[in-house]
Amino acid sequence: MADTYLVVNCGSSSVKLALYDDQASTLIATALAENLGFDKARLRIAFPRESTEDLAVDAGHQQAIETCISRFRESGWLEGDPAGIGHRVVHGGERFRASVLIEPTVVRAIEECAALAPLHNPANLTGIHQLSRIFPRTPQVAVFDTAFHQSLPEHAFLYALPYRLYQDEGVRRYGFHGTSHRYILQQLAADLDKPESETSLISAHLGNGCSICAIRDGQSVDTSMGLTPLEGLVMGTRSGDIDPGLFDFLAAKGIEARETHRMLNRESGLLGISGHTNDMRELTRLDEQGDQGASRAIEVFCFRLARYIGAMLASVNCPDALVFTGGIGENSAIVRARTLSHLQGLGFDLDAQANNTHGRDSAGEIQLSGSRMIKVIRTNEELVIARDTHHLTVNETSSVSPATRAHGR
Ligand code: AMP
Repeated sequence: MADTYLVVNCGSSSVKLALYDDQASTLIATALAENLGFDKARLRIAFPRESTEDLAVDAGHQQAIETCISRFRESGWLEGDPAGIGHRVVHGGERFRASVLIEPTVVRAIEECAALAPLHNPANLTGIHQLSRIFPRTPQVAVFDTAFHQSLPEHAFLYALPYRLYQDEGVRRYGFHGTSHRYILQQLAADLDKPESETSLISAHLGNGCSICAIRDGQSVDTSMGLTPLEGLVMGTRSGDIDPGLFDFLAAKGIEARETHRMLNRESGLLGISGHTNDMRELTRLDEQGDQGASRAIEVFCFRLARYIGAMLASVNCPDALVFTGGIGENSAIVRARTLSHLQGLGFDLDAQANNTHGRDSAGEIQLSGSRMIKVIRTNEELVIARDTHHLTVNETSSVSPATRAHGR
């Protein structure tokens, strides 16, 4: 078999692997290990044929990755070493404006950024160290969620806080989901047959985490997530925007900041408002049965999103399209319709029939004639990571000596 490219997304208790062909364009296999470090750790091969297996009770990332690589080899999908390994890394701070080959200085910089993403960056580093042990000769690439948003102008990334907090502590808006927003830009530009540098859009990534991005002439110029992925839109369990006065208000009632922070991240959003679930499919079913909590949650979600679409027009006055993506954005006609019902007069006129028929597997335009373009596009963050890895390993490894590449710490 020809060269392959491996994409790795390490979370605190999970790891997702995707294997691509020698051009980093065709998916060969995907696998997901969950519950690592807990009872019932499981590995699921999701593509090209489904299978699941239990991992040892104490299985961690190392065992999960090794088992997965063995299954890829046994099935003949992976022969020898991959030509390149691309890692999703959540926070690159102000240091990384683009994907990079991983060298020891890059590993140190990712460690330094961990203060900004304490749950995510350490897990991403675990993946980098594990894979460099298994494949010591394979170049590895870091693809940052924050990098695409490094083009934000100062007026969009600064909080109205004492300026020294930005200078001394790096407190600013960084934005996340950059890999998804970048993929949407690439797809829209290709669909419109325009260069990315001349393509402008509003990209709404609505999954368990949600963010929206204004992209002007191929560059991110505003986005809803901030210092952390908590700011902005209503999400599955995250509150999005909140009055910071809440912390003091609850402290006076004996609820400490740490507890409030946990509540904002894990017990809020769709789950918190509905009192039932963070799953939009389930909420839609409950709403149809007249459940008030579900209906309230969907309404708050859609109104907040509509406000943000309006706000993004301040940064990109004439978007080529408004694009919905992510599990909810691709699949929920109801969310798209309710959101746009708040924006009448802004030129986003939905075609109800097209909205109901377009979804994840039939992406396309859903506007009436004469309207601004509204599209559903299925996102593919793994493909962006595979492409960046291919690009950097093919074009740049020749200029980097193996000795300076990172193989662990
Ligand atoms: P993601 O994080 O992109 O996988 O998206 C997860 C979210 O997408 C969850 O809230 C799911 O309920 C939602 N979702 C997936 N499929 C559908 C669907 N057919 N209709 C509505 N929401 C969906």
